[in-house]
Amino acid sequence: MKKVLAIPDQAIVDPITIFPEACTGCNLCLHVCPVDLFLPNAEKGGPPLVLYPGECWYEGSCVDICPEPGAIVLNRPPAMRVNWKPRAECRPRT
Ligand code: SF4
Repeated sequence: MKKVLAIPDQAIVDPITIFPEACTGCNLCLHVCPVDLFLPNAEKGGPPLVLYPGECWYEGSCVDICPEPGAIVLNRPPAMRVNWKPRAECRPRT
C-alpha cells in the first residue's frame, strides 16, 4: 500500500472550526463542500481535516448539513459578516 502525506495549506483566517467532542465523523460536511476543503480523518469516527482553508467560499453548506449541533462553525471574515439593525434604528432614505 502506498502512503500519502497531506499537509494543510496555510491561510490567514481559519474558515472552519470542527469540535471533535461533538463531531461524529459522519463526513456529510466533506461530501457537500463545493471546493473539497476537507480530507476524511484516517481514524474512523474522527473529525474531517481542513486541508485547503484558503479555498473556502464561506457558503456554509457544511454547517447546514451537519446533524450534530455545535460540531462545526463557519468563521466568516469580518468583511463578510452582516450587521443587522432593528428597522427603527435605520434612517429613511432621502
Ligand atoms: S457533518 Fe458534522 S458531525 Fe459530520 S463530520 Fe462534519 S462536522 Fe462532524
